[in-house]
Parts: sequence; structure tokens; C-alpha cells
Amino acid sequence: MMLRGQMMDMPLLISDLLTHAENYHGDSEIVSRTVEGPIHRYTYRDAAKRARQLANALKDLQVAMGDRVGTLAWNGYRHYEIYYAVSGSGSVCHTVNPRLFAEQISYIINHAEDQVLFFELSFLPQVEQIVGELKTVRHFVLMTDRANMPRETSIPNLICYEDLVNSHSDQLAWPQFDENTASSLCYTSGTTGNPKGVMYSHRSTVLHAFASSLPDSLDISAQSAVMPVVPMFHVNGWGLPYSCTMNGAKLVLPGPKMDGVNLYELIEEEGVTMAAGVPTIWMMLLQHCQRNHLKIHPLKRVIIGGSAAPESMVDQLAEHGAEVRQLWGMTELSPCGTTSTPKFKHNGCNTATLRHLQGKQGRPIYGVQIRIVDDEGQPLPHDGKAFGNLQVKGPWVLSQYFGRELDDNHTADGWFNTGDVVNIDADGYMKITDRTKDVIKSGGEWISSIELENIMVGHPAVQEAAAIGVVHPKWDERPLMVVVLKEGASATRDELIGFFEGKIAKWWTPDDVAFVDELPHTATGKLQKLKLREMFKDYQW
Ligand code: ADP
Repeated sequence: MMLRGQMMDMPLLISDLLTHAENYHGDSEIVSRTVEGPIHRYTYRDAAKRARQLANALKDLQVAMGDRVGTLAWNGYRHYEIYYAVSGSGSVCHTVNPRLFAEQISYIINHAEDQVLFFELSFLPQVEQIVGELKTVRHFVLMTDRANMPRETSIPNLICYEDLVNSHSDQLAWPQFDENTASSLCYTSGTTGNPKGVMYSHRSTVLHAFASSLPDSLDISAQSAVMPVVPMFHVNGWGLPYSCTMNGAKLVLPGPKMDGVNLYELIEEEGVTMAAGVPTIWMMLLQHCQRNHLKIHPLKRVIIGGSAAPESMVDQLAEHGAEVRQLWGMTELSPCGTTSTPKFKHNGCNTATLRHLQGKQGRPIYGVQIRIVDDEGQPLPHDGKAFGNLQVKGPWVLSQYFGRELDDNHTADGWFNTGDVVNIDADGYMKITDRTKDVIKSGGEWISSIELENIMVGHPAVQEAAAIGVVHPKWDERPLMVVVLKEGASATRDELIGFFEGKIAKWWTPDDVAFVDELPHTATGKLQKLKLREMFKDYQW
């Protein structure tokens, strides 16, 4: 007979994260660079009070449980308040990526049926452009104060955020409901086809915050000052607005300015100990430091994810005293899946071994299960050699896309197909060789485009590089390296090809190099390989 445990049955709710921070880390700071210009500084206590005021305002705007509320916003305190006010009320905080094309933005807002749209001053022209297309939005709120409201606009009954917050009381008891209630929504960038919505729950978000805070995950504590450079409009800023609140860490939000100069200034002035973002961001920061002979002081750790972290970047950050940890994740995973953190047995290992580990996407954080299968769906060994399609399971992994019946992303026994091609070693460390659709197949064998790119950006003259497979009469496909050189730098084809010597198997070496001024990127800053392959489809060897 089943004997029931006798512990309190309490739902895991997002509002409790903020209440905890208010009660026990009330004076910890949230510092934001604003669109309007100045740095804004307040505490978790202030944020909690304003989130309650905003929740009361949402009630007045007749936002009901389950209603979707859209945002077009940077990483800043107002966006943070919206996260908590909306989800805390039982409605759904739908972060929209403002870097998408206008048609994609209106598609996403209409598909989600957003009732209210909060947006920042930077996006006023974009919203004015699409306002006629938005079928369900009842209220538009501009996230600014009275002084910055536009004199004229085509947006009907535009509400001023500060007026809305200030005209409401901060007296509110957060509603209690089932922890499986939807909390937030994020669409994947959709490199192919229309974007697909991932609907998170209170339970998945709080569990993800617990697990991602662990020392071997992102290691977040009340002693940290954390700067999420990864946007809050993309996968909830890797969950940092939740995990930092859970732990009472100081939050440093860079707003619209994610360039080297501004990030460097924030890190130094706010004593940022940990920062998280995609490789492009760190490339800009490191270039700024190099050009101006600057040293980064307080930063202890940099979390790099979204794309592979090149070894040269890991080395350079180490020179500044910052340890790099790779994070692998996906919108569908809330997003944290694996981190490249060493184990006890690696203590005291040499730099080469450490770099080898850091070059992998990492081992699963507790809660995430991973496996690899071949094209027939048969599980493959975890021996660090066999590579196949990565599948995952876990309480913060998507079970179904929002508003879609058809699902070809899950196996019959409930594993989610990630679309990444990887190997997993005996210690559980996973290494991505490619996205399924990006692998280069030469003579029936896979060549890792990611590996080629990582090596190529280690060349001092190379700013950015992409390896693609181009049709070849004998080998089916051979790798072509498409390169953007650094400003003022020069390098020949032969020099760049020679750079691979001794670093990889000979047959992996790209057959040719094409020089371009820039590479195509998706709205989330990833290389758009599909577009690149189209650009080079008529390429002759
Ligand atoms: P998108 O919406 O563009 O798919 P995601 O952030 O969900 O954006 O992208 C997830 C994908 O990004 C992963 O499936 C993987 O291919 C890639 N990715 C994420 N983290 C890493 C990493 N550390 N190294 C290499 N690739 C990564």
C-alpha cells in the first residue's frame, strides 16, 4: 500500500521568488541601464512593491488568468516588474523578440492572442508600423514616464507605464493556484517555417531556477553580482531574472547597450562577478579591452551559450581572470540543459585538459536526461566517439508547442528531439558537432562545421567564420570556409587553410576560403547557415 508523505503541499509559484527576495534580500540591488539614458538603481524591496502595483493595474485593465501579455523590451527593471506582475497574477508573460522582422512580430503576437502589449521607447516606430495588423491587443503601454511620452502617435489610447503603476496601490496578496498554470511564453526564432511557441509553467520555471542556481550549473548566490547580457526577450534571459531573485543576487541589467564600451563600464562600476551571453558579446568586449589596453577586474565567471565558445575566447577571458563555463540549452529547455563544469577528478589538471572540457557543451544538470540515437532511433553508446541525434527529457523540457496539434518533435516514449548532432563521453560530457541540418557530409562521413569555425576564429586576422558544405562531384560535399576579416587585417586563402594543419584530421580541412564583408545572422545572433548555403549554391570548386 502507498503511504503518503506528510509534508506541506504548496505550489511552486513565481510570485514567491520575489516575496522571498523582498523579505530576506530587500536591500540587494537591481541596477539597469535605461533606454532614456541614465542608470536606474533600486532594490528587490522596491521591485516587489512596484510589481504589486502593476498587478493591481492589470486587474483594472481586465487581464484575466491565462491571458497573454506581450512585451517588446530590453533587460531592465520595468521588464523585470512585468515578468513578476504578469506571471504572479496567473497571466502569461509573452516576451517577443524585437529583432525579428515586422511580419514575424505581428504573426507571433496574433498567434499568442496577446491582450496587452508593453513596449519600450526604442520600439515605438516598430509598433506604430504594425499596430493595424494586431488583432487581439486591447491596450498598448509605453514603458516610460510622462516626460518621455510622444506628442503624437498612431497608437490608439497609448498608456504611460509610470502613470499606470503609480496610480495603483501596492496592497495585494498574490493569488495562489496550481503550479502547472502557464506562466510565460517564448517563440523560437524559427530559422525554418513560422516561429513556434514554448509555454512555460510556474512549476517548470521554479524548478529550473533551483537547478540552474546550483554550484555546478550557473552557481548563483547572494554573494554574486550577475549581469544577464542574454536578452530577457529570449528564453527568459536564461532564467536569470528568476534564479537571481531566488538567491538574492545583485542584478545588473545592461538595457539596450550591449557593446564593449558599455558592458566594460557596467562590469567595473557595478562589480559584476558573473555574466552570461552569446559568444558575439564577449568578442566585442574582448576587442574593446584589447584596443584600449584594459583589464577586466571583478569578473570571476562568464557563461557562454547559444553557440559554441571558441577556445581562443576561453583563453582570452582566462587572462582577465574569468573562468568560462559553456551552457548548452534551447528555448524548449527553459533553456538550461548542460554545463561544462569540471569534476573532482579534474582538480589540478593542466590547462590543455581543462580547455578540452570547456570545449564541450557539458554534462546534464540534475533534472535533465540526455541520450543519443541513430537515424533509426536506436540508442548509441556514450563513449565520446559515436555521434547521433541528441534527445532530452525533464520537468522543464517542452512537451508540446503552443497551439499546435501536430508534433513530430517527440518520440513515442516521450523524448524531445533537439536537432543537435552530438557525442557523449563516459563522464556524461556532451559535445555538439552540428545542428542536424548543418552537418557537412564528405564521402559519407560527417565533418563538424562547428569545430572548423572554432579553429578558424582562433586566427588573429579572422573576425568571424562559417563552414558550410558545398556540393562536390566526388565527395558529395566538401567544406567551404566563409570568412570575415578583422578591420584592417589581411590574410590569404593559403594562410588560412594552413592554419588547420595539425589541428584536425587532414580530410576535414576546408577545400577553399571565401572572403565576405559580413555573415547573415538570425534575430538571436546565430549564423544563418541556410541563407549562406543559398548564397554559395552555385559555387564552383
Ligand atoms: P533558436 O530559437 O535559434 O533555436 P535556441 O536558443 O533555442 O534558439 O537555440 C538552441 C540551439 O542553439 C541548440 O539546439 C544548439 O544548436 C545551439 N546551442 C545552444 N547552446 C550552445 C552551445 N553552448 N554550443 C553550441 N551550440 C549551442
